[in-house]
Amino acid sequence: MQMTVVFPKETHAQETRAALTPELATKLTALGAKIEIEAGLGRSCGHSDADYEKAGATARADRAQMIQGADIVVQVRKPVPGDVSLMREGAVCIALLDPFQSRDLIQALAQRGVTAISLEMVPRSTRAQKMDVLSSQASLAGYAAVIAAAEQSGKIFPMMMTPAGTIKPVKVFIIGAGVAGLQAIATAKRLGAKVEAFDTRPVVEEQVRSLGAKFVKIDVGETGQTEGGYAKALTDEQLKLQREGMARVCAESDIVITAAQVFGRRAPILLTSEMLDAMKPGSVVVDLAVETGGNVEGVVADQISDRKGVKIVGTANLPGTVPVHASQMFASNITALLAEFWDKESNAFKLNLDDDILKSCVVTHGGRIVNEKLAAT
Ligand code: NAD
Repeated sequence: MQMTVVFPKETHAQETRAALTPELATKLTALGAKIEIEAGLGRSCGHSDADYEKAGATARADRAQMIQGADIVVQVRKPVPGDVSLMREGAVCIALLDPFQSRDLIQALAQRGVTAISLEMVPRSTRAQKMDVLSSQASLAGYAAVIAAAEQSGKIFPMMMTPAGTIKPVKVFIIGAGVAGLQAIATAKRLGAKVEAFDTRPVVEEQVRSLGAKFVKIDVGETGQTEGGYAKALTDEQLKLQREGMARVCAESDIVITAAQVFGRRAPILLTSEMLDAMKPGSVVVDLAVETGGNVEGVVADQISDRKGVKIVGTANLPGTVPVHASQMFASNITALLAEFWDKESNAFKLNLDDDILKSCVVTHGGRIVNEKLAAT
């Protein structure tokens, strides 16, 4: 029997992204899947129901029945409890499940007998790169952070020599040069800024330089990265050294973008109130880590606050500010994931739990939490 893959609308009020675009719906139908979308799925990212239907999908107004009949349910954000209770035993649920913050949801999915795939847990291997939602969305967040900073700043980015005088390029400091930070560096450079950056992983220095930015040297002692490419958490003493090393650069910068995260943990506080006090009035701080607690002391999610003339931007869903491309990339990641495990003979998504990728991102299966890290929490 043909497998039904459904795409309900996002329930989070601020979510503008969709997990499927018409272009990728064509690819999924070509794979052999029956595709259903909830009517209005693409409204916030520029696609009508008719666009999806032209691509071979069916638009449905009956959300509950659609979920009840699904073999696979795909969303950008985690499902609400009401939707979980509609899912069939043995159905597959794919989303950014936020598993470390969503203990009850993971339990509910396990109890329901749903196989849950947490997109955050897709491994960072070469084979899995095309399915890596964290990376695709982080690239866009890096770009969007610079645009948000430019909008809030009273300054222009490039140097300008005019009869009315010479304008110096804006100074941008980027803290945390992972996927998002590197894209922020590239975007700020393209706009003509003078860019400096810092990261605790030593391998990043070369990447920062190759983008034409200056790497700020701060000796915080032994750092390094995990096998998966993530940063290791610093000790309190190391964080103190890092803040001392960064204070001068922050004070001299017009724009500071923080994008420092440690996988599965609260983001480290890197900009204290004292450091914010030392910044020039009119400067702008964008905190890309706001959803995991924030790198900036006092940052408020989804607010732009004015702190003694320094603007602090806490926009949580930055990829959602560019929903067209964010949805395109997300849908492409999902299509790659489904295609990788689509068995042509049985025309079905095959859950091979011995496979490296599925072993890592399947978090519930057969009525249990199967991810060791989550089971232990
Ligand atoms: P992330 O979002 O977890 O962290 C962002 C950045 O914050 C990282 O560069 C990290 O080193 C940095 N950071 C942590 N603590 C810090 C601190 N105290 N001060 C300053 N910076 C700090 O990570 P990410 O951006 O998703 O990925 C990190 C790296 O993983 C990438 O740069 C890349 O090398 C690797 N990666 C590999 C693949 C792949 O092979 N498929 C895919 C994605 C990423």
